[in-house]
Amino acid sequence: MDKAKPFRVGNVSVRPGGRQTVNIQIGFMSNHLPMHMSAHVIHGQKPGPVMFVSAAVHGDEIIGVEIIRRLLSAPVMNRVRGTLIAVPIVNAYGFLSHSRYLPDRRDLNRAFPGSSSGSLAAQLAETFMREIVARADVGIDLHSAAVHRENLPQIRITEDNGQLFELAKSFGAPVILKAPLREGSMRQSALEVGTKVLLYEAGEGLRFDEVAIRVGVSGVLRVMRALGMVPASAVRQSKMLPSLSRNSYWVRAPEGGILRMYKACGDSVAEGDVIGMVSDPFGETEFEVVAKYGGLIIGRTRLPVVNQGDGLFHIAQVQKLDMADHMERIEKELAADPLYDEDEII
Ligand SMILES: [Zn+2]
Repeated sequence: MDKAKPFRVGNVSVRPGGRQTVNIQIGFMSNHLPMHMSAHVIHGQKPGPVMFVSAAVHGDEIIGVEIIRRLLSAPVMNRVRGTLIAVPIVNAYGFLSHSRYLPDRRDLNRAFPGSSSGSLAAQLAETFMREIVARADVGIDLHSAAVHRENLPQIRITEDNGQLFELAKSFGAPVILKAPLREGSMRQSALEVGTKVLLYEAGEGLRFDEVAIRVGVSGVLRVMRALGMVPASAVRQSKMLPSLSRNSYWVRAPEGGILRMYKACGDSVAEGDVIGMVSDPFGETEFEVVAKYGGLIIGRTRLPVVNQGDGLFHIAQVQKLDMADHMERIEKELAADPLYDEDEII
């Protein structure tokens, strides 16, 4: 039978059937402490696809860190075919300071593909591209909303056909949002070297959200199942079909003030609905927050103190609008999955 060859990351070679954490040196901090990007490599006995899972590209988006921690403790990780490279903290600098950015205030996800002689962000991007992305066939990059914002679990994708779209559907998040690539993003650079990347967005910056975490862990395992990296019998597929959206827009604050929100993530709205109210602190003046078009709320602010023009609600136009029921069924599916036996999590 076919046997895999050793897999190299950094200056470490992982043998077939082995798993280990590899520290990739990225330089020294200002106090001369060495800085690493750590990757956990699970290299199966049998050859197969190479997939990476990454989190905290934005240092305050910590939900993916917990998704990866739970993923690595799943019993099925002992039966991987091919190779999984998990990088729970890509932007270590931002993670340490609870910040989206690097110390030079750059956004890592605008610095790809990076350069070994560029800024700190460019150098980190270059290392991540060379050591992780370029070695993988497929990747899943885990994000959350920015701090003081929350997202309904969703997969973002650039195309609604082909293998990547099939993988996006198998993930089982309630919504797939077709969104254009951003200049300098990891997804764009990955595409240029032939690595297909799904982006998962769920929950809030600097917070955990149990449903968003569970949808994430199950989603990564389901993608591995679809790629033949784990036995089909070991991972439950979702019976819920995701809703595809090709358009989304932000409802912005009509005035600065104090916000009351009448709708939550996963709620549907109709054109012209009043979905919130901004008032002054005395309650003397009130401004309605109105949905311009109907759709599904896939993101919203968590901070009730708003400036004029702040994005309050992110609304996606979807084919299916009974998402409250959809989310309830997803939660039930996940609760019934033996993977989420309490003992496994804590
Ligand atoms: Zn992000």
